[in-house]
Amino acid sequence: MLFSEVAEYYQKLEEVSSRLTMIDILSELFSKSSKDEIKQLIYLTQGVLSPPFEGKEIGMAEKLAISSIVLATGIPKENIQKLFNSKGDLGSAAEEAIKDTKLKKLHNKKFTVNELFSTLNKIADSSGSGSQDIKIKLLAGLISDSSPLESRYIIRFALGTLRLGLGDATILEALSKAKTGDRESKQALENAYNLCSDLGKVGFKLFDEGIDGINKMEVSLFNPIRPELAERAKSFEEIMERMNNICAVDGKYDGLRAQLHLDKKKKRVEIFSRNLEKMTHMFPDLVKAVFEEVDAETLILDGEAIAYDDITEEFRPFQETIQTKRKHDIQEKSSEMPLHLFVFDIMYLNGKSLMDKSYSERRETLEKVLNKRIFILPAIRIITKSKKELELFFNAQLTAGLEGIVAKDLSSTYVAGARKFSWIKMKRSYKSELSDTVDLVIIGYYLGKGSRTEFGLGGLLAAVYNDKKDLFESITKIGTGFTEQQMSYFKELLDKITLKKKPARVESEVEPDFWVEPKYVVEVRADEITRSPMHTCGKTSYQSEEIGYALRFPRIISDGIRDKKAEDSTTTAEIIEMFEKQKKKPLSDK
Ligand code: ATP
Repeated sequence: MLFSEVAEYYQKLEEVSSRLTMIDILSELFSKSSKDEIKQLIYLTQGVLSPPFEGKEIGMAEKLAISSIVLATGIPKENIQKLFNSKGDLGSAAEEAIKDTKLKKLHNKKFTVNELFSTLNKIADSSGSGSQDIKIKLLAGLISDSSPLESRYIIRFALGTLRLGLGDATILEALSKAKTGDRESKQALENAYNLCSDLGKVGFKLFDEGIDGINKMEVSLFNPIRPELAERAKSFEEIMERMNNICAVDGKYDGLRAQLHLDKKKKRVEIFSRNLEKMTHMFPDLVKAVFEEVDAETLILDGEAIAYDDITEEFRPFQETIQTKRKHDIQEKSSEMPLHLFVFDIMYLNGKSLMDKSYSERRETLEKVLNKRIFILPAIRIITKSKKELELFFNAQLTAGLEGIVAKDLSSTYVAGARKFSWIKMKRSYKSELSDTVDLVIIGYYLGKGSRTEFGLGGLLAAVYNDKKDLFESITKIGTGFTEQQMSYFKELLDKITLKKKPARVESEVEPDFWVEPKYVVEVRADEITRSPMHTCGKTSYQSEEIGYALRFPRIISDGIRDKKAEDSTTTAEIIEMFEKQKKKPLSDK
């Protein structure tokens, strides 16, 4: 398949304002692809060269990309820079510049998706001395073979700013439609995706083996599994009811979710975050410990990494855990305050998936595998049939410095990416506030007024994720509680992702001064969830007379952004559930 054809589809995708139209365009594009290029086509469409968890970036600097355009077109650098300044996007600047060159017509050579993909990989892989020149030449070569439209996207690939606004769910639905004619297989594809976190791999499997192959997909080592998540309950009574009066209860550690993959023979360990990013380099202690402390050749563990003081037997606050994992002083910090991994699940052992085993069986296996228990230990837990015992355990965990508990259904399998009542979390609550914070995705921002004008940012427009519709629905404006530092921080961050119009997957009747790509998630505390006609959260149809949900007195409590994808923010369904729960008496802190 020629890239020139793909570029036409990208242009169409950029112009639409409805998610369903996006799916139609994308499925048409996918249906034209062969088995041998679907993987590469999917990665390109995501703007990556390998699944995002690999962390491989082309990430060329703007300066180098400008040099490539100069080299390919012969246009003076100042002119390119001027075009860039006026367009605000180097891809469009290159497109414009190339439109005028006669050179184009002479050299235009067609290239395929796979050829483009391989050159982009060469750009990303060249390192060391002289690599800048190589990168410039390779990119210039691509540009001189491209049409103006192709150049627009090639420059964006090189800079890592493709941003077609497609979510994973949109790509999965388009794949389903491309291969089966409708969107019905989306669920099967999503299940497969949850097991491997690699859309390219899922696409290839679908094109190679059809839906049968997708249904048979298993977890595999070094492909992160989307973590199972927990629901909330309003009382101990509700937990016991939902669990049919018997359950396991773990302590809830306030650290960093860590999924550890090990292959002893190959001497390979990888640790993935809640957000499925590779963070192995941040945990040298754990990497070393796992070779010594587990009795297994290969495995996948799910747990929480947290700074723990063996001497005083104290858990360190979340902030300290974060500091411990900071990139620059890993060595120093790690010996001072070693992280411990409190493991609460095992999904794979010695070449076999344990995903379909019951939780009680998995926990039994886990106990056998963790036989040294120095840095890698099983999470504290009890099995109980009594509400009283549950409550006592909860209070004991708070006293020990934990955040609360997570109750678990003994018979449940490990369901990748699910948030179901087979795991129920209960945290310490705060009086006169919502008992839990919410994670919101920023969809726009406002210019400041008065003294705030100097920061260029006075507030944010935030949304929740509606996972049924794969859309972001506005829920609140956040205008207070920012420090000056935060205002500058957000302004800088958001300026890189501003958009000219409302993104296709955002539903909001409130207009911010600037729309931004739904990308960054912040943790917000509010006093209450209220009903409001202003916001689209919870409305069944957009721009209707219905009343949505909103937050009262929202304030950001995270310093910066959270380690979550936009689609991992609090969902509309969770907000409605929290609204229902807040009507009932809050749980006391005692
Ligand atoms: P979520 O991960 O549910 O989207 P969140 O990131 O805001 O939400 P919390 O609501 O505080 O986190 O709680 C869920 C998280 O608790 C899990 O993702 C996991 O990282 C952590 N956790 C700590 N201890 C446990 C445990 N024993 N079992 C399961 N999860 C645990």
